[in-house]
Amino acid sequence: MQINTLGRSGLKVSKLCFGTLTMSPLQQNMSPEAGARLLVYAYERGVRFLDTADLYGTYPHIRLALKDAPDYVVSTKAYCYDRQTAQAALERAYRGLGRDYVDLFMLHEQESLYTLRGHEEALKYLEEQRSLGHIGAVGVSTHFVACVRAAPRFGMIDVIHPLINLEGIGIQDGARQDMEDAIASARAAGIGIFAMKPLGGGHLIASSRDALRYAIDSPLLDAVAVGMQSEKEIDADVACFEGLPDAREQLEALSGRRRRIMVHDWCEGCGRCRERCAQKAIDIVDGRAKIDQSRCVFCGYCARACPQFCIKVV
Ligand code: SF4
Ligand code: SF4
Repeated sequence: MQINTLGRSGLKVSKLCFGTLTMSPLQQNMSPEAGARLLVYAYERGVRFLDTADLYGTYPHIRLALKDAPDYVVSTKAYCYDRQTAQAALERAYRGLGRDYVDLFMLHEQESLYTLRGHEEALKYLEEQRSLGHIGAVGVSTHFVACVRAAPRFGMIDVIHPLINLEGIGIQDGARQDMEDAIASARAAGIGIFAMKPLGGGHLIASSRDALRYAIDSPLLDAVAVGMQSEKEIDADVACFEGLPDAREQLEALSGRRRRIMVHDWCEGCGRCRERCAQKAIDIVDGRAKIDQSRCVFCGYCARACPQFCIKVV
């Protein structure tokens, strides 16, 4: 497994990062024991980097896994905007992970220069904690090109966790090329780049070989977070990252896995997905999108239309 340095943070991470959203109550809702087994399985195959968030509810899974996989570099993120909220989120991470140190702590879902300025007090608190040795690095996660462009202005930001994938699905304010240009500038400033959603939130599964290949081969990305929900999937993704590009596609074909589409409970019922669905598979019921799986052809067009990124094809 390729190990890279995450920019000026100096953190040594495997290029394949285990994204734990898939095992969380928001998605597969695995028990901490089941989640920990998968994390340890991946660790035994060379994965040394995992990602979570205050929101995901996977601290118990990770805490258990760290007993057998102590050298995981742990990244987490939280919605905090000032000193108090950052301190509280960091303390939840310490308690949840059973550690008094977090390798990488990020502000979740930043958007632009203005949101970064609005959260500067939290960033300064995290910078202070980094200088005291309680955090290894400070970062931001984002779906916005504007945030990636602005981050180098903030000297305390060591790492950016941007959304980027083969088709640019989910980038909120531009195309893939715009994000690549912004990432290149951030890298030139010494910032480590750790990408999210290489499979476009689930709807690049049909072209997962090409989508993963794009992320693996990109010289702009130090690491790539991939959600994995079974040992077979870990084997396939590890094989892809180690240079066997057909592995994941073979897994899809062999498993005959049925696709599903799901709507996260942060759906706001705006109806944009319904407007995009040519199959008329979506209705808004009680303020939330409801999808008729029998009509759905899993094209993923509705997921692209969702401003909240809450539809997933799995
Ligand atoms: S576009 Fe997204 S937020 Fe709007 S109704 Fe559809 S799923 Fe919900
Ligand atoms: S995936 Fe395609 S067919 Fe299915 S609900 Fe979305 S837009 Fe409609």
